[in-house]
Amino acid sequence: MSEIAFTESDERRELRKQVARLASKYGREYFTEQARSGGKTTDLWLEIGKNGYLGINIPEEYGGAGGGIGDIAAVCEELAAQGCPLLMMVVSPAICGTVIGRFGTEEQKRRWLPGIADGTGTMAFAITEPDAGTNSHNITTTARRDGDEWVLNGRKIYISGVDEADNVLVVARTEDAKTGKLKPCLFVVPTDAAGFEFYPIPMEIVSPELQFQVFIDDVRLPADALVGDEDAGLVQLFAGLNPERIMAASFSTGLARFALGEATAYAKERTVFKDPIGAHQGIAHPLAQSHIEIEMARLMTQKAAALLDAGDDMGAGEAANMAKYAAAEAACDAADRAVQTHGGNGITQEYGMAGLLVAARAGRIAPVSREMILNFVAMHSLGLPKSY
Ligand SMILES: Cc1cc2nc3c(=O)[nH]c(=O)nc-3n(C[C@H](O)[C@H](O)[C@H](O)COP(=O)(O)OP(=O)(O)OC[C@H]3O[C@@H](n4cnc5c(N)ncnc54)[C@H](O)[C@@H]3O)c2cc1C
Repeated sequence: MSEIAFTESDERRELRKQVARLASKYGREYFTEQARSGGKTTDLWLEIGKNGYLGINIPEEYGGAGGGIGDIAAVCEELAAQGCPLLMMVVSPAICGTVIGRFGTEEQKRRWLPGIADGTGTMAFAITEPDAGTNSHNITTTARRDGDEWVLNGRKIYISGVDEADNVLVVARTEDAKTGKLKPCLFVVPTDAAGFEFYPIPMEIVSPELQFQVFIDDVRLPADALVGDEDAGLVQLFAGLNPERIMAASFSTGLARFALGEATAYAKERTVFKDPIGAHQGIAHPLAQSHIEIEMARLMTQKAAALLDAGDDMGAGEAANMAKYAAAEAACDAADRAVQTHGGNGITQEYGMAGLLVAARAGRIAPVSREMILNFVAMHSLGLPKSY
């Protein structure tokens, strides 16, 4: 009988420790200071790149460490657990790295993967459009062939980290597939291309990473900007979805662990009656509930990663969706409970707890909303009719 492991390998646990050690040198204070002063987390990003953590899931021959999604998800979670939740972890190595690593030509892999792996060539990802939103089948960004070149036109919204990226992996559709079922094509667009403009959207998230509106007007690209095969775009896009969900779940569980850690420490110290406030069940039980919810979400996230790394895309799909849902819920509750535990201090900038609320809340919306996950589970796990 084969052994079933419900714990991670020693190697993975060691990885977590090392990343936590590195991230703790920066910590929450660094992160919020950068966010509030308009700074960036480039130093941290390059240091995790230099240490091989950013490219841990990228194949060795392209500058990575040849690990899996479980490894990069562990890196993402440990950074967030030290107060440095980085959205670009979800986007650059996990979505773009996976798609290019699986479907790019040899030349494309050589050109883009090493920079994704060491952090010097970060790649953003753009699918969301103002008029399509959740319904990606309605995207209208189009790619037209003109001789040897492609000409792209369209508009994207809420695209993270365009200002920190050298390139954006843009999801478009070819002109002859403008109508009917989505036949997406993926293009790598340099952020300094003529006709490519981006403007930050004022957001309420306390983070140095910004979201952008992107305008793509007659952007001309060489033929090899198209990733992989023009006719296999949907398969390629789907290959990025499970990693995206597993990473988003890890972002949320890391954030939740950070909030819970702060709340627990505070509850042990703060005394207003005769015992520390953590002695009151009204404070202790919600924190205990969060610990349970976070651990359940982590277990499902690790299961999804293990299935994906074992090549079971279907099994990973259900687990990744459930993990992402559970993690976002756990993070929202943990952040809210952390604020409550801190009393008035919970909404001061000094303690920084309220600033976690919006970041945790974003996990219920992006990259896929909780409603769409419930739709997925209702349909695929329970066999209920499609509702949209
Ligand atoms: C912080 C942040 C970072 C992001 N980064 C990126 C990025 O880097 N790249 C990128 O491409 N996108 C990014 N996004 C966009 C994100 O993926 C979208 O916001 C998300 O997919 C939801 O789309 P929408 O905002 O247009 O909401 P809408 O589609 O307008 O949906 C609004 C509400 O209606 C619900 N709804 C819609 N349809 C249904 C249905 N059939 N059944 C039930 N409920 C439904 C949704 O769940 C949601 O609650 C980011 C968003 C945020 C907030």
